[in-house]
Amino acid sequence: MSTFQAPKGTYDLTPPDSAKFLAVREAISAPLRDSGYGYIETPGFENVELFARGVGESTDIVTKEMYTLTTKGGSQLALRPEGTASVLRAALQANLHKAGNLPVKLWYSGSYYRYERPQKGRYRHFSQVGAEAIGTEDPVLDAELIILADQAYRSLGLRRFRILLNSLGDKECRPVYREALQTFLRDLDLDEETRRRIEINPLRVLDDKRADVQKQLTDAPKFRDYLCDACKAYHEEVRALLTAAGVAFEDDEKLVRGLDYYTRTTFEFVHDGLGSQSAVGGGGRYDGLSEMIGGPELPSVGWALGVDRTVLALEAEGVELDLPATTSVYAVPLGEEARRVLFGVVTELRRAGIAADFAFGGRGLKGAMKSANRSGARYTLVAGERDLAEGVVQLKDMESGEQSAVPLAEAAAELAKRLG
Ligand code: ATP
Ligand code: MG
Repeated sequence: MSTFQAPKGTYDLTPPDSAKFLAVREAISAPLRDSGYGYIETPGFENVELFARGVGESTDIVTKEMYTLTTKGGSQLALRPEGTASVLRAALQANLHKAGNLPVKLWYSGSYYRYERPQKGRYRHFSQVGAEAIGTEDPVLDAELIILADQAYRSLGLRRFRILLNSLGDKECRPVYREALQTFLRDLDLDEETRRRIEINPLRVLDDKRADVQKQLTDAPKFRDYLCDACKAYHEEVRALLTAAGVAFEDDEKLVRGLDYYTRTTFEFVHDGLGSQSAVGGGGRYDGLSEMIGGPELPSVGWALGVDRTVLALEAEGVELDLPATTSVYAVPLGEEARRVLFGVVTELRRAGIAADFAFGGRGLKGAMKSANRSGARYTLVAGERDLAEGVVQLKDMESGEQSAVPLAEAAAELAKRLG
């Protein structure tokens, strides 16, 4: 293995591609920031207990995918595999729910870690932007979050994504459905591990990706037929709000998602250009999670969108993000004195808020102009001994190719004017 090889299942973000990731994080978070969601940041690791309780002991995430470690002091920690449990833990710790301002609306962005079998769109380190609305049970809130994710994806130019929607009931109707499902599943031809899953978390069998399992599930009892009146009304309200907002969705009876904590509204964003890793994001209502981790009753709803898969979806659709050049002015000094003088102009430009860069290392004109081109700068400033003797710099418009001498003392002001 090469010394410069990133660990298995991980990859680095490097320029210029890294700009896409920044743009995606920005685009996903923008609608949240405009809708009353405040930014929250939590540690990259938590006590392993939080995820065991908060994500669920019977989930793949906890049993197979979590990176756990014991510290020198003997604490059991886990690299965070997802965001919701940590965000809720942090909100409880800071008593945000007691400020008399429910729901507590938060958004986050960060790295997550799962020990998975690496493949395209599935990595051991990946990045999510997420949102949580804590402490309120209101179908408008569920709809708001779905609408904001839809808005984020549309703002990126994505079109070939679909929203799958389901309801997983509540503590009244879920147990009834669970039992009916168990009775059905016990009669199927399934392997040992799946049989065990029937007893621990039968809903997750519906989520099995294997064709031979899916084939047997055609006649499985449908949650729709078991929803209690309150859950049914709630779900109909969410559906009506989405329809009113012009957000298309598909009812998906088999959508259960990988985490244990979901109740009622559950949804997933899938993209049709991604092959088997088709989920770009997902979320739902998790009314019981707070109590599961030792908090008060706080019905909540949230989602997490995967940045990596969103970038893959953009590529699959051939969407070119409109990324503005990061450098507006590129300075090319020819000679020692010009270096000092032009670096002074660059500093002045930067302080005036104009993005400027510089040909470092005393390179020749040809190489430096190549860098100027590559930087995407609209203007180049070139100065040699003769220019300085005359008190001017050469200002070149890289779009038109036009070049003119500008008094050195006016260079920064002239550029500010031209760049608007
Ligand atoms: P999958 O069914 O594909 O395993 P999941 O249900 O485990 O997805 P969530 O826990 O809902 O995924 O995470 C939300 C989003 O985070 C996913 O839709 C996906 O975009 C992203 N994501 C999850 N796991 C990975 C991973 N290992 N690599 C890259 N992105 C991931
Ligand atoms: Mg998964």
